[in-house]
Amino acid sequence: MMATLRPLLAGNWKMNGTRASLSVVSALRDAVAAGRMRGVDTVVCPPATLVMAAADLCAGSSLMIGGQDCDSQPAGASTGDVSAEMLKDAGAAAVIVGHSERRNLHGESDAVVRAKAEAAARAGLLAIICVGESRAERDGGETLRVIGRQIDESVPPAATARTVALAYEPVWAIGTGLTPEATDIAEVHGFLRRRLQALIGGEGGGVRLLYGGSVKPDNAGEVWGVENVDGLLVGGASLKEEDFLAIAAAR
Ligand code: PGA
Repeated sequence: MMATLRPLLAGNWKMNGTRASLSVVSALRDAVAAGRMRGVDTVVCPPATLVMAAADLCAGSSLMIGGQDCDSQPAGASTGDVSAEMLKDAGAAAVIVGHSERRNLHGESDAVVRAKAEAAARAGLLAIICVGESRAERDGGETLRVIGRQIDESVPPAATARTVALAYEPVWAIGTGLTPEATDIAEVHGFLRRRLQALIGGEGGGVRLLYGGSVKPDNAGEVWGVENVDGLLVGGASLKEEDFLAIAAAR
């Protein structure tokens, strides 16, 4: 079944990209202007060094630029960090929080992720909150329990459909070329919907639910078609405009 919410396609460049990569942003902006992303909200999340230049390139375009992480404080003694307010000031419209690489490589807890999502909302950014189970958790039948805890503890109680999107990214599917069966994605996304509605009430029905993990042009069509999939969070395949455009077109 096709999504009924306005879909959101997000690209996560991770720690990739230099000024030369801004040509990808320009190409996507031009594709949006040419109507090739019609009906899909699109956000590109380059590394922090490129956010301002990318946002400047997209001034007046509906192509949005996002950050990949933010601190929960607006400013202060936190060497190396970037606040949600700074991203907003640089022209960002969104920020990814709680990506599994942040949770695992930087030890971010659910409480930290929630504080970051709250900071994003205060700054006027859409927070794309990531959740997902590890391979061991899936093999142990723990998937829904783990994701349920991540939702309960990472999603701000005051979240609304305008301040939050939720991305299901099975850790074992990220960057591996492996993807869950469509029925497994449907099971988790149905669970996400119900759990969000239990947590934040009716607003939970309008929060966009993104799938991420090895989405490519050749599997995007199947994933777009899964019930309760209202968007995609794309890593590797967002680095080339032709792949990202093909993923949008597969809808
Ligand atoms: P991938 O990454 O598409 O390269 O698997 C997705 C992500 O980590 O957001």
